[in-house]
Amino acid sequence: MRATMMDFPLTLAHILERAGRLFPESEIVSRLPDGSLHRHRYADFHRRAGALAGALAALGLSRGDRVATLMWNHHAHLEAYFAVPCAGGVLHTLNLRLPPEEIAWIANHAGDRFLIVDDVLLPIADRMRGQVRFEKVIVVPLAGSAVPAPCLNYEELLAARPPFEPPALGEEDPAGMCYTSGTTGRPKGVVYSHRSLVLHALASALPDVMGIANADAVCPVVPMFHVNAWGLPFSATLVGAKFAFPGPHLDPVRLLDLYEAERVTLTAGVPTIWAGILQALDREPARWKLSPGMRMVVGGAAAPESMIRAFDRHGLRVIHGWGMTETSPVAAVNYQKRGPASSDPDEHYALRAKQGLPLPFVEIRAMTPGGEAPWDGATMGELEVRGPWIAGGYHDPGDEAAQWSADGWFRTGDVVTIDARGYIKITDRIKDLVKSGGEWVSSVDLENALVGHPGVADAAVIAVPDVKWGERPLAIVVPKAGEEVTEAALREFLAPRFARFQLPDGFVFVPGLPRTSTGKVLKATLRDEYRSWKGGSGDA
Ligand code: ADP
Repeated sequence: MRATMMDFPLTLAHILERAGRLFPESEIVSRLPDGSLHRHRYADFHRRAGALAGALAALGLSRGDRVATLMWNHHAHLEAYFAVPCAGGVLHTLNLRLPPEEIAWIANHAGDRFLIVDDVLLPIADRMRGQVRFEKVIVVPLAGSAVPAPCLNYEELLAARPPFEPPALGEEDPAGMCYTSGTTGRPKGVVYSHRSLVLHALASALPDVMGIANADAVCPVVPMFHVNAWGLPFSATLVGAKFAFPGPHLDPVRLLDLYEAERVTLTAGVPTIWAGILQALDREPARWKLSPGMRMVVGGAAAPESMIRAFDRHGLRVIHGWGMTETSPVAAVNYQKRGPASSDPDEHYALRAKQGLPLPFVEIRAMTPGGEAPWDGATMGELEVRGPWIAGGYHDPGDEAAQWSADGWFRTGDVVTIDARGYIKITDRIKDLVKSGGEWVSSVDLENALVGHPGVADAAVIAVPDVKWGERPLAIVVPKAGEEVTEAALREFLAPRFARFQLPDGFVFVPGLPRTSTGKVLKATLRDEYRSWKGGSGDA
């Protein structure tokens, strides 16, 4: 017996061709640096991506060559997302928020040959000069700036309409690469294949995941240099959805204006973005007419329960998801599956604040030193995952030590519980756990509870050394502007929800928290700063 199906490769070239053929009318709107809105249709996108692929081939791009981008979210970045892999190259999105020396280190480590850069970001490229040598630098004149020699002008390259002979692509060919954000050490490169990106796009478009449809208008706020903007450029193009790209304008008011003007139905970003949006909506609830039920995919860090509740009050729906650079990134998403549902609102929101159920083809387990943790919603273990869009190695094999188990599972470094129904809850990253007298205290649980206090804008909980208990939790709290919060009030607020040993020994009030370029709290920096904190009695 043999299967009689065709051998048909899963490649991004199919998504690009389909987009041009079936959805030429779908819109791609981009906010430009001057604040104006630029409008294209998929027909333009298809033609221009083909021209860019031809231009790259004419410049000498060979199979597997890396093409770096240093770009905001806009139509030209979308063109690069498809043109580079369809020309046989590998799209490497550089994180423009990192220090230029770090970007240069990453570009060198990846072996990037060409760079495509927005004219408004040229100052960053200038500061990398001497540290990295791109053979060609292509400048997108987004703000209409003159392109300095010897750089090439993106629009002129496309206008020359070089002929393009698409290479025969295999589904295992490399198509893209991203580096981890480096909160756990030196950034590590992850290389995605055509197949992994296509399967990730298919699965993340499913109704219970992001539910992306042709009728959607999708606004990726998450930068296109942050793990492929969570796959949205691929998944939304796959179904022919409209795009509304924010360009460099990520302030809450500009985003809300864009949502209203372009009738956005699906948007995505890290919790810090949504905290700002929420404040703007709370201040002026009647100002914007948003699409009812607009979905907001929140990931990269935990979406606090209070945030999910608050957006519900505005008629907007938070979709909480979990992922990592190594997982392409979407690996789990929260939705309510069939089965007994609680009518108690507290239980409902506690469930929605979990990171959710694994996507199809993603397998999960939580490992303890004694073996696999039971799915009881209480036993903590390190989350391990495997699946077709989970990395099986790094670009640099030297980075791989201990990251994969002997039987091939990827060790995430996240500590979780999994409940009887399969919902994952992230309680911490291994290195951020507070280990107090042999018990693990979840910093994420404490932080989520603290930001639920009406006087608290932001909070981080870290471990500080303690002679008696090894480590004790310390809360670093950012009060809301104009609010008075006291340690006593916060203690009283937390007391009913936590065991006594879990409560922070102290509360420190600060004006703001240090964050990484992708919105995660820099806990290592806080731990260093408060290493010798001596405020607590330690009598937990
Ligand atoms: P890095 O691992 O370098 O910080 P990533 O962007 O890949 O870079 O971050 C992945 C990590 O972000 C996960 O391992 C997890 O700790 C955290 N994370 C992502 N989504 C969530 C979420 N919904 N809730 C809690 N933590 C999350």
